[in-house]
Amino acid sequence: MTLAPSNIRECPACKKPVEQLVLNSGNTFGAVQWSDGFLAAPMLPEFPRLGRCPHCATLFWVPEATLVGDCWPPDIAASQWPGAKTVEGPTAEEFLSAIPLCGGDKEKELFVRLRSWWRSNDRFRKGVADAPPFSETERGNLEELAEALDDAHPHHTVMRAEIARELGQFEQCLALLERDFGEELMYVVGTIRDRALDLDPKVMELK
Ligand SMILES: [Zn+2]
Repeated sequence: MTLAPSNIRECPACKKPVEQLVLNSGNTFGAVQWSDGFLAAPMLPEFPRLGRCPHCATLFWVPEATLVGDCWPPDIAASQWPGAKTVEGPTAEEFLSAIPLCGGDKEKELFVRLRSWWRSNDRFRKGVADAPPFSETERGNLEELAEALDDAHPHHTVMRAEIARELGQFEQCLALLERDFGEELMYVVGTIRDRALDLDPKVMELK
């Protein structure tokens, strides 16, 4: 994995400099694909698009913040940007609190709800035996997300089936998987169906 020069932007709230890391090239070496669509790829990281200011904790759309310069090599500590800090990624809860920042933009809202789901599932990915089940807020997000997905796209239907499974709605999950998804999605569809038949709602690795 290699980085491109970082973008130095201005936090829209506190006006302090923040660093937006930029990927030059990456690969999926060592990547793990999860059933909720999250790809854990150490060599292909997703840097925050909606980020948290490391100075004042304000959430903002990073590409839309004022660009004040760049930094190469991407080492802010030793650069001409004293005091700059790297933009942080929001928690599941913070993503949901940012819905008003989407300004009614459906694509942004889908982005935020999907990432909130992924962050909610992180506690199950870690394999902690007593990880608490989804809260009412987390379940509400999954319901809203399922509503926003579009069955015209087969992978959206698979995602809705996965949401139904994770909400414990196993019959609904199986019903959603009853169409022809084609070769590419066959493995994931089969895996989600098997887990639904086992009444297992946990996110899982796709081997
Ligand atoms: Zn700030």
